Amino acid sequence: MKRKNAFKLLVWIFFSVFCLEAEAQSVRQNSKAQYRIKITEERPKFIFVEAQIPVSEGHLFMNRFGADNFPNGWATFVQNLEIKDEKDQRLAIAAEPNASWQIAGKYSGLVKLSYQIDLSFVYQNWSAGNEQAGRFQDNSLFLVARPLFIVSAIDDKRQITFDLPGSWKVTTPWQKAAGDKFVFNAENQTDLLSNTIVLGQFAEYKLKKGALDFTLALPGKMNESAQIIVPALEKVLGAYAKLFDKTPPTNYLMTFFYDVQDDGEAYSRSAAFTARNKVTRNGLIIWGNFLAHEFFHFWNGQQMRGEPRETREWFNEGLSEYFANLTLFRAGLIGEDLFLKKMEKHLALYLYFKAAAPFQGTSIKQAGTRKSFNRPGVYNGGWTIAFCLDLLIREKTNGRRNLADFMRLMYEKFGLPGKPYSYQDIVRTASEIAGTEVADFFQRFVEGTEVLPVADYLEKLGLEAYDKGYAGEVYIFKKRSVNDSERKLWSALTGKVRRFR
Ligand SMILES: [Zn+2]
Repeated sequence: MKRKNAFKLLVWIFFSVFCLEAEAQSVRQNSKAQYRIKITEERPKFIFVEAQIPVSEGHLFMNRFGADNFPNGWATFVQNLEIKDEKDQRLAIAAEPNASWQIAGKYSGLVKLSYQIDLSFVYQNWSAGNEQAGRFQDNSLFLVARPLFIVSAIDDKRQITFDLPGSWKVTTPWQKAAGDKFVFNAENQTDLLSNTIVLGQFAEYKLKKGALDFTLALPGKMNESAQIIVPALEKVLGAYAKLFDKTPPTNYLMTFFYDVQDDGEAYSRSAAFTARNKVTRNGLIIWGNFLAHEFFHFWNGQQMRGEPRETREWFNEGLSEYFANLTLFRAGLIGEDLFLKKMEKHLALYLYFKAAAPFQGTSIKQAGTRKSFNRPGVYNGGWTIAFCLDLLIREKTNGRRNLADFMRLMYEKFGLPGKPYSYQDIVRTASEIAGTEVADFFQRFVEGTEVLPVADYLEKLGLEAYDKGYAGEVYIFKKRSVNDSERKLWSALTGKVRRFR
């Protein structure tokens, strides 16, 4: 009798486990999350969203990033949220703090959501810049994806379908589904949320370099400057595709439009910029450099991320800025005079950071813990470290390697496998590329507070510098006579032969 009961219990356990597993499997199989984004007017006040997503323990939320100034984040703009189960039975739901919701009874399974997004934020000035939220302009709607999607903790592929007014098109970095230009697939939650969308009537340009399928969207009046923006970006794209030659096939979307401030933001596979001043050939040092800087973050910042964030900021910003400047010069988008001016500004702000009272005792490595306050340390300090490290690597390897090789190796070691790098990984990789230990350089100038002898580094390039750090002044002159090594180093760095008088 006892044995029979035990057998029954075993059978029961077996079937229970089997059924639970079968049920879980069916939830997983049907769980391909789907969102339908509907816009009914050409100047829309709302976006209507219908979704079908798997939920665990009744928890739904929105990503708060970018809407921190609202206590309830992006949920501030969500209206008329209704939730039903698979059999179309209404489920009770309670709004919770921090842009989240709880379904009654900790419901797990597939749910159907319907809600609308109040688009008022795209018609107002967003304090952090509208490229971080959305903007409606001349028949087109630029949107960051985060404000649109209520999600659950189950991270999986998602399908997004757009239902738009007849004359509208849509561009996103998500993978287009075969056969339907209004259906896309996002790889996972990050791909879904940390990206951008452009809808409506707008100009777009497709550029392909290596594995990169690049789309440039120019909504509104920005398209009037397309003939100077597109060729410039094509050159930058070519240089980066060559530098990071192992980049996997990627769709990338860049959006550039006029707005009330100059600003830019990088997303997972997209970036958005705004310009206040008219985009002209002469202004390329500002807008072109901005585009080149933010685009560099696709590798340095997005795919390649350091832990912890604070101590990687100098690397993230400084090296992105350095490669952006150098790429513009090497590609002939800016001339030598402008490149030297740019150098003067970076070095002057670095020396100011080293000399001025508010920053005393702050190392370049620590500067990122107060990124806005320590901006000259993070950006200009990071740039100066990049510049001197580039020359150091060239010197240690007799010109066989440089900072681009270092960047490529960092990408292959940490960016491609998606492994966060530590500060020590930077130091180790630099030593590996230099073929000798360069930890001392980092100890003194990145971790420590010693001032880099920038004039000595400039001299290696046949340049002469005069500075007054505490006043934020540096003046660079081309030396009248240079030796062979100075001439060669300049050519190697810039890809150009300089005429010396
Ligand atoms: Zn940046």
